[in-house]
Amino acid sequence: MSFSEKVFWWRLGFISFPDFEDFFFEKLAELGINKVAVEYSPEKSDERNFYVWLPSNEWLQHEREGLVNTLKQIAESLNWPISAVKWERIEEEDWSKSWKQYWEPDAVGKNLLILPAWLEPPEELSHRLILRLDPGCAFGTGSHPTTRLCLEALENDPPVNLRVADLGCGSGILSLAALGLGAKEVLAVDIDSLAIRTSLQNQKLNKAFKGNFSAFIGSVDVLMEELKGNPADLLLCNILAPVIEQLAPSFHDLLSPNGRALLSGLLFDQSAGLAKLLNSLGWEVSNCLLKDQWGLLEISQPKRQNQFIS
Ligand code: SAH
Repeated sequence: MSFSEKVFWWRLGFISFPDFEDFFFEKLAELGINKVAVEYSPEKSDERNFYVWLPSNEWLQHEREGLVNTLKQIAESLNWPISAVKWERIEEEDWSKSWKQYWEPDAVGKNLLILPAWLEPPEELSHRLILRLDPGCAFGTGSHPTTRLCLEALENDPPVNLRVADLGCGSGILSLAALGLGAKEVLAVDIDSLAIRTSLQNQKLNKAFKGNFSAFIGSVDVLMEELKGNPADLLLCNILAPVIEQLAPSFHDLLSPNGRALLSGLLFDQSAGLAKLLNSLGWEVSNCLLKDQWGLLEISQPKRQNQFIS
């Protein structure tokens, strides 16, 4: 496809059983697809309409067919077949059928509000700390349980005046929350260039937050370089468990001795294995939080006992 060709959206719609919802969100999160919605209709309580929006320049026909087959296989293995599969071409401007129509102001934790950039805060939620967000094509609308776990953990122990590293920033949502909650500086990286562009744009939507923000394409190596020998106080990393496992040996270099990390993206039943690996790398798991079947581990360096106190 040439760069001059206009990008539009493909909307996949289908019907399945309500219980398919968890599997649907989990599979799409794993594939890095974040423009999704599930529609409930009170008169048909035993079924749901599922939607997925895909940018035309990134999804060729055989890839779209592959996605439908993957979803069908999951549904069939659970005995909840998928029906009424339909692809629709949606122009960017066509609001009434766009994913934006399904995305509403979203209160998270005690005092955060994720606000779609094109909306005004509802009166009753306007006292909350507002994170304005347009996720573009990047992951991180805040709807995923692991993002929520990270946001709640950030809110419970706000990073006031801290230097924060956001590894796998997606839409930049965790970086923004850290800045809004008082971080002095946030350095974000992501291997996806779209994520970096989106994060920088989202930061501009939240100019009132005072801390410094920078975002770079790359992973741990780039983060190390950008920290310039001055490690972070807090590391945020919401990527899938196998990726965290690969990245974990670098965490010591990224974090100061008193630093801590919030690690999510893991299914609850992966948390014991990951905790074991982190222990073997010298980390103490100081907190383990759960939401649906997802988990978050907070790690820090074990406190050394002073052997000379009698
Ligand atoms: N932080 C956001 C997005 C999480 S999705 C949130 O909490 O909602 C995970 C992100 O990590 C994706 O944007 C993906 O591109 C990025 N990613 C995956 N592997 C990575 C790696 N090895 N290094 C850096 N980023 C990575």
